[in-house]
Amino acid sequence: MTGCLAIVGLGPGAAELRTPQAAAALAVATDLVGYGPYLARVPLRPDQECHASENREELARARQALSLAAAGRFVALVSSGDAGVFAMASAVFEAIEAGEPAWRQLEVSVVPGVSAMLAAAARVGAPLGHDFCAISLSDNLKPWDVLVQRLTAAAAAGFVIALYNPLSRARPWQLGVAFDLLRPLLPGSAPVVFATAVSRPEERIDITTLAAADAARADMRTLVLIGSAATRRIARPGGPPWLYTPRRHGA
Ligand code: SAH
Repeated sequence: MTGCLAIVGLGPGAAELRTPQAAAALAVATDLVGYGPYLARVPLRPDQECHASENREELARARQALSLAAAGRFVALVSSGDAGVFAMASAVFEAIEAGEPAWRQLEVSVVPGVSAMLAAAARVGAPLGHDFCAISLSDNLKPWDVLVQRLTAAAAAGFVIALYNPLSRARPWQLGVAFDLLRPLLPGSAPVVFATAVSRPEERIDITTLAAADAARADMRTLVLIGSAATRRIARPGGPPWLYTPRRHGA
């Protein structure tokens, strides 16, 4: 008997931002596989087996999930946010492409989730209302040169930029250098949002400008949004401003 594999996006944190389809995929699983802190967010039943792994073992984790499914288990492999955005779904397909032929016959489904950039954008207004791009600032899997090229091109193209993985203990300098790179290319008044742990109890959102943005404000739970020259700020008495990017180019 063959099992199946669901690659499940848990959303950014809060249970109400988890889709009913994700909750259902978790409920039917016999085995849950994932990075420990993400699995800790899933209410486990005693009859479900839990396979927690370390953060940077994505490919091994993907293979483990595929092997369990091939052995007849109903596996849910969990990711934060959306499972396809800088997350496990692509590791699974990488493992399938290079792995056992039998894995190609497994029933594999990808269950989407609310990605961090969507949850962060919703907190401050509508900064992603016009064209935007998402870039992972991690240079673990791509050279820094490529990041420099992409950031420069994104700024030149007028995209709002969502930066995932802005900083970690092993990568302390990249975000500061990215701000320095963007400063001559964008207005100093372009809004920058630091959205940390969105929808979790420790959530913190700060809105500043590119001129004043301090990389030390970010950590690995932070999504950084950098507005374009078109992104507008609506001041509000007694509260943080709303940000939005007009739908119409040149508005
Ligand atoms: N698949 C995830 C992204 C994983 S990469 C998604 O779609 O959201 C990990 C990065 O996502 C973190 O470094 C951070 O930049 C961002 N992130 C994940 N959860 C977050 C949250 N609750 N608040 C802010 N940023 C978050």
